[in-house]
Amino acid sequence: MSAKDLPWNLVLVNHDHPLPDDYEPSALKDLPMGIYTDTERAQQVDERAYDDLMDMLEAASEDNVGPFVCSSYRTFDYQQNLYDNRVAQAELEGYEGDEAEKEAAFWVAPPGTSEHHTGLAVDIVDASYTALDETQESTDAQRWLMEHCADYGFILRYPTDKSDVTGIGYEPWHYRYVGKEAARDITDSGLCFEEWLKQTYNIQD
Ligand SMILES: [Zn+2]
Repeated sequence: MSAKDLPWNLVLVNHDHPLPDDYEPSALKDLPMGIYTDTERAQQVDERAYDDLMDMLEAASEDNVGPFVCSSYRTFDYQQNLYDNRVAQAELEGYEGDEAEKEAAFWVAPPGTSEHHTGLAVDIVDASYTALDETQESTDAQRWLMEHCADYGFILRYPTDKSDVTGIGYEPWHYRYVGKEAARDITDSGLCFEEWLKQTYNIQD
């Protein structure tokens, strides 16, 4: 099967599978402002992932952890901004030219190659510790999410031991909606999304 023929919930977006320039996301729905998000910026997700996401956030709250959605749907322009900033940072760190872009792309996907364009990816941090760094993995919110996210149709998309396959550095806050059945299957398999798609759908390109 070609990656292009995958159902909507399994859409593959990565460095080798960029979205077309004229890509338009499916209908988006706003998360309620200021409950699991800040009060300044509206967060949006694909409306088909909305109910499961809200159920997950509410269940986490009921277990006394504080999940905080710091990023969700992103436009190509917004992603371009993030990427340019990361390249600039890499240059400050001493990387030059192509090397700066390569280093940046390991941490911030170039526009068109980010799952955030689909509205199916959310970055969730602990409200009491919002830094996007490795310490995030041991916060209460991450411990809870890693244990329960599959029950709500989400997977931790970029596990620490799969960077060589995903091409993305460990992000213990980036959750991808794939639906409950696939999320359970992927989680039980111990494979990352790329590996699981290859095994399950025999993706060739
Ligand atoms: Zn993310």
